[in-house]
Amino acid sequence: MTSPDVPSGGRTPDAAVLRLRPRLPSPLREVTDERFARHGVRLLLKRDDLIHPELIGNKWRKLAPNLRAAAGRTLLTFGGAYSNHLRATAAAGRLLGLDTVGVVRGQELADRPLNPSLVRCATDGMRLHFVDRSTYRRVAEPQVLAGVLRAADAEDAYVVPEGGSNSLAVRGCHALGEELRGRADVVAVACGTGGTLAGLAAGLTPEQRALGVAVLKGDFLAGETAALQTLAFGGRRGTWSVDTRFHFGGYARTSDELEAFARDFESRHALPVERLYVAKLLYALVALTEEGAFPRGTTVAAVITGAPFPPA
Ligand SMILES: *Cc1c(COP(=O)(O)O)cnc(C)c1O
Repeated sequence: MTSPDVPSGGRTPDAAVLRLRPRLPSPLREVTDERFARHGVRLLLKRDDLIHPELIGNKWRKLAPNLRAAAGRTLLTFGGAYSNHLRATAAAGRLLGLDTVGVVRGQELADRPLNPSLVRCATDGMRLHFVDRSTYRRVAEPQVLAGVLRAADAEDAYVVPEGGSNSLAVRGCHALGEELRGRADVVAVACGTGGTLAGLAAGLTPEQRALGVAVLKGDFLAGETAALQTLAFGGRRGTWSVDTRFHFGGYARTSDELEAFARDFESRHALPVERLYVAKLLYALVALTEEGAFPRGTTVAAVITGAPFPPA
């Protein structure tokens, strides 16, 4: 895939990113699980969690093109206190010798000990800049962003939005769809911003269907995904939909049932199940299969977009 606005020079050209030795295409494995088998459904796991030990899963696919585009400039991005995206960005900075700044939601966190996720970011050399929640919510507004960059002393930084979902990131996820062409009837992925779904759906063949499982509460994801496809590709692409029934109360919310489900899946299939996104995806696929949502003979591929933090 070509990305016309990516400069070919700079301190982090393709070669530097590829020296990180991503495992691409990521492995695709069939698992035997009677909850699917008795409905005539085959389950495949697309192991994007194995792409790179620190730039894990969809974070690799979304960050790699942005690391090239940053071309050595300081990379500034945004996230909550447990953001997988912030950790991946910090790790990329350390591995590639780039300066990184993480703008963290919640001014009050500045006065508390850092949680383990932010400790990892800081240890990887990320400079953390905390902002209050109302400013954070409005940071897409140019004046608000300019103020944040000034306050963070990073006015020349290459800015990547929250969750990493810009046009380059969405186009980076197109390759995920390409790797799955002809391999499954339905490809399912957990959604935060919808950026991964947007790129994945565009990369599949027209006969395949992408299914997004929202991990946040609300009905905005289909609209966001469509907007990201327009930004990246100029319009809606592929066959896709979003299921909003499996968020378990919202982002980072869980229940005893979901936790038990995740632990059971781990022991059945020797797969470390990331809890914020992947657990909800897998739970949704079992529930949909039991509801008869997939006709007999359907092959479903679940994209394993991440791994637990800290690692088990
Ligand atoms: C960030 C993340 C997602 C969400 O990806 P979007 O492109 O924002 O929808 C899904 N799974 C995992 C494990 C993630 O870390």
